Amino acid sequence: MPAMDIPFQVRRTGRKSRSISVRVHFDGTVRVGAPNYVGMRDIRKVISEHAGWIRERLQSVRATLPRYETGALHPYLGRSYPLRVRVVDGRPGVELARSGLQIRVRDDDPATIRKQLHRFYRDRAEVVLARRLERIAPTLSWVKKTPQLKLRLMRAQWGSCCETGLVTFNTRLVKAPLRLIDYVIVHELAHLKHHDHGPGFERLMDGHMPDWRKRRRDLNTLGERVLFD
Ligand SMILES: [Zn+2]
Repeated sequence: MPAMDIPFQVRRTGRKSRSISVRVHFDGTVRVGAPNYVGMRDIRKVISEHAGWIRERLQSVRATLPRYETGALHPYLGRSYPLRVRVVDGRPGVELARSGLQIRVRDDDPATIRKQLHRFYRDRAEVVLARRLERIAPTLSWVKKTPQLKLRLMRAQWGSCCETGLVTFNTRLVKAPLRLIDYVIVHELAHLKHHDHGPGFERLMDGHMPDWRKRRRDLNTLGERVLFD
């Protein structure tokens, strides 16, 4: 069966690897990994051979992609809120209400709504994460001074800590419940003392957050659902 209608991206995997891999990514793209010497013809052949499976995966991935319209559910602090989109002439903005996330936009284009929603998450992350950081940092004996909160939209991680002591958190973390936010904060602050995830790091985590492994598991489960938006 021809599969000309399936768009895909090719990543060259060098000479060492020998196989062609096909993956349907969470954001709905088809990604092919292939060694340098494999030509496009052979890649198309592999796509074509797996077309049925790829289409099936694409369909289920697309069904879970976030939607930006009234009724679509979006998480905040671990709870799901339906969007309530209203087109207005005045100032755009987002408000958290009992009934959901009230979004005022000039037009109801999904990209416009998405932008407003990102702004909301960023504003809330600035408040919520700063508050948690200020509460947690002073309780950790090795943290001399509460680091300044830095936020960034990240795809694959929740936070990072570099050797200079700069701690950065993923803005999307504000979608997770507080107990998972706290876990990421303690985790990154633990890196101020241990730069790897070795036994020293684990002991430090055990001492300050005995159930951190469970929280890490929960965060991973949540991960894919909130990292793509
Ligand atoms: Zn780490």
